[in-house]
Amino acid sequence: MTSPQWSIAIHGGAGTMARERMSDEQQAEYRAALATALDAGSAVLAGGGSALDAVEAAIVLLEDDPRFNAGRGAVFTYEGVNELDASIMDGRDRLAGAATGVTTVKNPIRLARAVMEHSPHVFLSREGAETFAREQELEQAGPEWFATPERRRQLEELKARQTEGGGLGWFDADLKYGTVGAVALDQVGHLAAGTSTGGLTGKRWGRIGDSPIIGAGNYADDRSCAVSATGAGEVFIRVNVAAQICTRMHLLGESAQVAADHVIGEVGQLGGDGGVIVAAPDGSATFSFNTPGMYRGRADAGGLREVAIFADE
Ligand code: ASP
Repeated sequence: MTSPQWSIAIHGGAGTMARERMSDEQQAEYRAALATALDAGSAVLAGGGSALDAVEAAIVLLEDDPRFNAGRGAVFTYEGVNELDASIMDGRDRLAGAATGVTTVKNPIRLARAVMEHSPHVFLSREGAETFAREQELEQAGPEWFATPERRRQLEELKARQTEGGGLGWFDADLKYGTVGAVALDQVGHLAAGTSTGGLTGKRWGRIGDSPIIGAGNYADDRSCAVSATGAGEVFIRVNVAAQICTRMHLLGESAQVAADHVIGEVGQLGGDGGVIVAAPDGSATFSFNTPGMYRGRADAGGLREVAIFADE
């Protein structure tokens, strides 16, 4: 069997989504949004474009879609701001770029890529990252672009439940998921990964999750795999999820599914939940998650094209 010449996988967050809590119409909307992003990335790859361009193309659409917790529709911090994190990595040479805590950059994944390609650094934060974005002439957006009534409602709900006795450490899984990501293998055998998020509803004190941390929420290495993660960021950082999966494949020779299932199992043992998408040099596009659902999709040159929400599909 010959390997597909290209493949791509995307996610729009993992969580406690259940069929009975989503109307048919909502499910159809999510599936359509995922398919649009998947097709955008696929078109880049089918046309001979790079894995990096495919990952960026898919993520920009998910960032612009208010359903997902990235770019427009990002969750609110405790203070009522949308603070965005993103990262991208090129499997060819393990160049990487990331940004955290930005509030004015319309597409944080583009900022991450600019950090990788046009700065001597890997990871920029807050005001400095914003200044760099302006210097790079990346598109800006005001708070009204990112804010949505549903995310504001979720923040109010979180605050009410914290006041009712949950305490400031109380978070609800239903209020925190929706991070987006993409991984791809291009026709010349290069891998790339990207991840973008608003983080957790009600996050405080400049909290940073796994999504912009290279190795935790995002990793790509042509020798092994490309990974984008979503889930309980604090645990994903401690497990160094994305890099661990690639390392297991590289050094232990595990398949993407075996490596990803193992590492997500470790996340679960530490009390974390979430999932990953993995692209490998053999053309496989793999999912692993320990939640009831993960918004996801995958496609390849052999004609595979699927989107899914719940674990049992
Ligand atoms: N991993 C993200 C974070 O901790 C959240 C998520 O994926 O839902 O910021």
